[in-house]
Amino acid sequence: MQQVLIGIDRDGTLLKDTGRYPGSEGPSEVFELCEGAIDCVKLLNQIPNSAVAIISNQSGLAQGRLGIKDVERVNNTVKKLLELGRASIQGIYFCEHVSLDYARTKGISLSNSFVKECSDMKPNPGMLFRACKELLRTPPEKCNIYMIGDRSDDVLSGLSAGGKSVFVKSSVHQSDTLEIKKKMQIHYDKIHNAKDLIGAAEWIIMDVARSCAKEISAKDL
Ligand SMILES: [Mg+2]
Ligand SMILES: [Zn+2]
Repeated sequence: MQQVLIGIDRDGTLLKDTGRYPGSEGPSEVFELCEGAIDCVKLLNQIPNSAVAIISNQSGLAQGRLGIKDVERVNNTVKKLLELGRASIQGIYFCEHVSLDYARTKGISLSNSFVKECSDMKPNPGMLFRACKELLRTPPEKCNIYMIGDRSDDVLSGLSAGGKSVFVKSSVHQSDTLEIKKKMQIHYDKIHNAKDLIGAAEWIIMDVARSCAKEISAKDL
């Protein structure tokens, strides 16, 4: 039976997007999970041979809005909030870098240590690949990979990892919805546009069942 790795974006997908960088407002900052986050992860936890990992780009570091400690504090808080609802996350990965292009458009100095073309940074598949190896002890090409997120970079990272992606629209990033619709015309079998987080989990469960059925019928031949 195949191992299943599900990556979930953090900001705007699991954690409510406030339009600011989570963790940038000091210890009194209050965090709230997105609607359906707990139930989504609980559903995913039922998939046999699976691991669920948070996969997050943290561009706020390069912008000087927050530090690594703040990112880790928010990560731990999200994990705890999920655990209070009996939903469990097996790994948390974040990329601390921004691309040169991003730095240029945001006026970030290119000598800033967070500016780097990093293979971890979504839309690259680095973090998903690491999660397969570390959490499932399986090479990525032998894993069934899914990525859930609210931005086109999330969706693209799932595809670049050789997996499938579920887009869950957030109210903040309207332009991404248009981009995803265009991508869906080409990769219609690899991208699902879910109405909410629970819909995202239900689609993945169905898709895993479908690929297991295929695996079994292939063995019977
Ligand atoms: Mg996001
Ligand atoms: Zn990185």
